[in-house]
Amino acid sequence: MSAAEPKPIREIRINPIVPSESVLVATARSMRPRKAEDPAPRDTRRHVDTCPFCTGNEHMTPPTIAAYPDNENWQARIVENLYPVLGDDRASGSLVFGLQQAIEGYGRHEVIIDHRQHGIALHEMSEAHLVLLFGAYRERIAQLYANDARLRYVLVFKNFGPAAGASIAHTHSQIIAMPVVPENVYNEVTQSRTHYQKHHQCIFCSLIDEALTFEATIYDRSSGQIRRRISVGQYVVERGERFIAIKPFASRYEWEVHILPLQHQSDFLAISDSDREDLARVVKRTMARLDAVIGGAQYNFFLHSKPRGEEFADCDASYHWHLEICPRTSIPTGFELGSGLFVSTISPEEAAEQLRSVDLDRPME
Ligand SMILES: [Zn+2]
Ligand SMILES: [Zn+2]
Ligand SMILES: [Zn+2]
Repeated sequence: MSAAEPKPIREIRINPIVPSESVLVATARSMRPRKAEDPAPRDTRRHVDTCPFCTGNEHMTPPTIAAYPDNENWQARIVENLYPVLGDDRASGSLVFGLQQAIEGYGRHEVIIDHRQHGIALHEMSEAHLVLLFGAYRERIAQLYANDARLRYVLVFKNFGPAAGASIAHTHSQIIAMPVVPENVYNEVTQSRTHYQKHHQCIFCSLIDEALTFEATIYDRSSGQIRRRISVGQYVVERGERFIAIKPFASRYEWEVHILPLQHQSDFLAISDSDREDLARVVKRTMARLDAVIGGAQYNFFLHSKPRGEEFADCDASYHWHLEICPRTSIPTGFELGSGLFVSTISPEEAAEQLRSVDLDRPME
């Protein structure tokens, strides 16, 4: 650390996209509200005889919905979830009782077995495999929307590692097709639409531009000391030809990283095959950086894309799809859950710097 090290930060940062979300960045050691705990180790075995998702045990899962490239040599496989959170009954209706509203829980809940190898991490998969996996996401999301016009959102997400709530150790993602739009996507879509109406610009595109070009120095008013220096590329973790990985300036999780297409695109389903190659590369490199810095990343990721339905038909110019990667390095405290104000004890600038400085081209031992 140099002598020019900025003062510890203690500030509440507002999420520029969803202003009702904020994070307390408090980097002084005394501010740490919790101890770092080592998460339960993840399962790194290649094959487990009793695992229903491992090869040779295909009969143990519910029937295959799709296999890529084919059933015999599957590299990724989609099956029904044995314990779905939403059922597939065709009769639908909504219940309204005074202020109580309920929408019947129809929808679909499926599992994507991401890889044949039981405990493989995302950054250990080949780029070609990630291209295939993102292709499987794209195809299945498109089919689900095409099969049921009542669906408003198809959420693809992944829990990796016990710290992230993965109940089955074999690497997998989940697809939940729902008749409602999840709250955090809804907030992003409507807030970015409001921004667009005011500024005629996609807020995500503006954030990318800012990350790539913006420079500023913020001084403490009373002491005149530098409070924060923002330099070009400070929030950029990884940059590909078509995708960028950014450490948000205000985000709930200390190591949260978002991956977005550099060119404006509202719907994940619009990605081309060559986009997918660059996405695979940026995801792989970003996950390798996280894994190196955190020491075995356990995380959730969520694919956020434009919802379906009349209400969102005008969001093509204002919404920008992205992948949110949320590593779980600590358990939220009561203060955080009760206040909704998440605490970050490492500044996002410092986190981005650490992720960027991982040397990925050094040969692995
Ligand atoms: Zn397995
Ligand atoms: Zn955009
Ligand atoms: Zn999002």
